[in-house]
Amino acid sequence: MTQPTNQYNEDVRYHPDDDCPLFSESLEEHIVGITRGTLPNHGTFCGNCYTPLSPDTAKCPHCGALTDGSRRPVETIPDEVMAMLRDQRKTESSIVNSFAYAGFIIAICFALWLILTVPYLRPESGHLITATVVFSLVLIIGGRTLAGVLGGYYGDHVAYERARKRLRLKWTAFSAAR
Ligand SMILES: [Zn+2]
Repeated sequence: MTQPTNQYNEDVRYHPDDDCPLFSESLEEHIVGITRGTLPNHGTFCGNCYTPLSPDTAKCPHCGALTDGSRRPVETIPDEVMAMLRDQRKTESSIVNSFAYAGFIIAICFALWLILTVPYLRPESGHLITATVVFSLVLIIGGRTLAGVLGGYYGDHVAYERARKRLRLKWTAFSAAR
């Protein structure tokens, strides 16, 4: 349950077990729609977690807040909440990207190391074309693989945890002030 999984896969979506109720899938989709201009920032939203609600709902399907409780449904999603989602995604993608770049840098170093240490491939051996082919293959295959593994797996895990941590802090401040 606490094991983070790929949050882009709907079937195994990671549901964090913390005190921040952001973001339900439908809220995330709605904010993406508002950002793209395909959805209006107007409707009925949970007064606690801002999940879109149907007008006759008595209880939020995401956080369980009652619509006649202390936090009444609202008609718009606050700008701060939309900024929090944008910040979360920015944090995630910049961490994933830096892991992917690290993968490419490792591949470049390994390719250079091969060219400079394997006698058959060394510049003075005269096997320039073979050396170039080996260098390119290591770079393309190794670089892609490492970038995928580091960025896609490790980067994704670290990115999600870091972004979620930032989100929790922002949510606590926002929640205390609203
Ligand atoms: Zn809710």
